[in-house]
Amino acid sequence: MNTANDIHDLLIVGAGINGAGIARDAAGRGLSVALCDKGDIAGATSWASSKLIHGGLRYLEHYDFALVRESLQEREVILRIAPHLTNAIRFVMPHTPALRPAWMIRIGLWLYDHLGGSLSLPKSDCIPLGNGQYGAPLNSIYKKGFIYSDVQVDDARLTLANVRDAVNAGASFMPRTRMISARRENSLWVCSLAQADGTPVESRCRALINAAGPWAAQLHPLLGGQQKIGIQLVRGSHIVVPRLYQGDHAYTLQNDDGRVVFILPFFGQFSMVGTTEVRMDSPDMSPAASDEEIDYLCRAANRYLHKAIAPSDILWRYAGVRPLLDDGKADRQTSTSQVSREYQFMLDQPTTGDAPLLTIIGGKLTTYRRLAEKALARLASTFPHMGPTWTAEKPLPDREIDQNASPGIDFGGGLCERDVRYFLAHEWAQDAEDILWRRTKAGLLMTREQRDMFATWLEANRCAM
Ligand SMILES: Cc1cc2nc3c(=O)[nH]c(=O)nc-3n(C[C@H](O)[C@H](O)[C@H](O)COP(=O)(O)OP(=O)(O)OC[C@H]3O[C@@H](n4cnc5c(N)ncnc54)[C@H](O)[C@@H]3O)c2cc1C
Repeated sequence: MNTANDIHDLLIVGAGINGAGIARDAAGRGLSVALCDKGDIAGATSWASSKLIHGGLRYLEHYDFALVRESLQEREVILRIAPHLTNAIRFVMPHTPALRPAWMIRIGLWLYDHLGGSLSLPKSDCIPLGNGQYGAPLNSIYKKGFIYSDVQVDDARLTLANVRDAVNAGASFMPRTRMISARRENSLWVCSLAQADGTPVESRCRALINAAGPWAAQLHPLLGGQQKIGIQLVRGSHIVVPRLYQGDHAYTLQNDDGRVVFILPFFGQFSMVGTTEVRMDSPDMSPAASDEEIDYLCRAANRYLHKAIAPSDILWRYAGVRPLLDDGKADRQTSTSQVSREYQFMLDQPTTGDAPLLTIIGGKLTTYRRLAEKALARLASTFPHMGPTWTAEKPLPDREIDQNASPGIDFGGGLCERDVRYFLAHEWAQDAEDILWRRTKAGLLMTREQRDMFATWLEANRCAM
């Protein structure tokens, strides 16, 4: 067994966006931090999102004003600290009077422009559609629409940048290391972990954070958590097809089931369509998009666009699982769209002086940084020496590849050997998938043969790197 001799202040389970954000924040505030993940960084929900840093216009329909305000404020912060990972875009919403009246959308957009305080992005407007760049791709029955701003983000690299910065500030990251169980001993946690090859690891810490996303409820009792956790697991799928229209705007399409579907520009030559919502029973079920979901997304796009899409056009599909907070307010028979995207903390500390366990349920990519601040505030009595909040101002790191170094082998899709070496040495990548789909999106730009050749090359050369 490997025993980590150091006693960490904090051990965080899960290097999704929430665990990564907490690790960065805590390390920068002077805590000694360990972070583990059973898979790749952002290998679960945090690379399968719609890749938006958004206020969540439709949450206004559910009167989630506090969440929308916080999300809009965070949109500003993330634009500031991660300009290299974000991109502001305009969303066009064709008006379909039978689904939502124009007055309702106008009020919603006015709130969207103002709830977050002073916002830097262009404000919303009512626009004629016609034959201009916003109207030309649409069926001619859509005569007018609305336009508003939001932000696209590289979700996997945003997560990675947080882990990188946490490690830069002294955190230790344990990749491919699963938390098995933990027990309290005196005023510490004694944690049993296992590396991918089965090697057991023991680690001690003063406080434990369960940021295991879809697995948080399952893990909670294994860490001695006493409270019952209400969680709903909801799969969301996206499809990527050849670019459907000119222009760098997105569409927000109202569907007749009350949901909205986005069409987003993706890496220049593609369009991404998403998402669906399908309840799941277990986080361990493979979150693959079903044929029904594919059909749903194609129909939603075809209702609005001239250029029809069919399942045979799909170049890539991906799906992720939302762990939604089940506060008992939303009826299980009703749409999961109505379940709040808020997050909640559960602090388990039977008596003062016991080592605390903080479990995180729910959340959005957009609000990860505020979630991290609030999570650490919940542990303030355990860490009275912790420094002040700081993450709203300091930019997240970018990759530091030496572009003058020889690129080496060209694998296609813009991926070269120099970059691969960097991802392995500095970004904890291990598999072809980590590199093709999370460190980059080269997988989308390569042929199947190129992807297979790269995977074979990596398998043969990884140990020597
Ligand atoms: C389809 C879809 C679209 C979305 N779109 C958006 C969007 O556009 N904008 C937005 O703001 N939000 C969006 N979200 C929400 C957002 O993606 C999630 O809230 C966020 O990614 C959750 O991050 P997380 O860190 O909680 O979970 P995850 O990213 O799932 O991370 C949890 C990590 O814990 C690890 N783990 C689990 N158990 C263990 C264990 N025992 N030991 C070690 N590690 C463990 C897992 O491997 C995983 O990496 C979307 C979600 C979905 C599903």
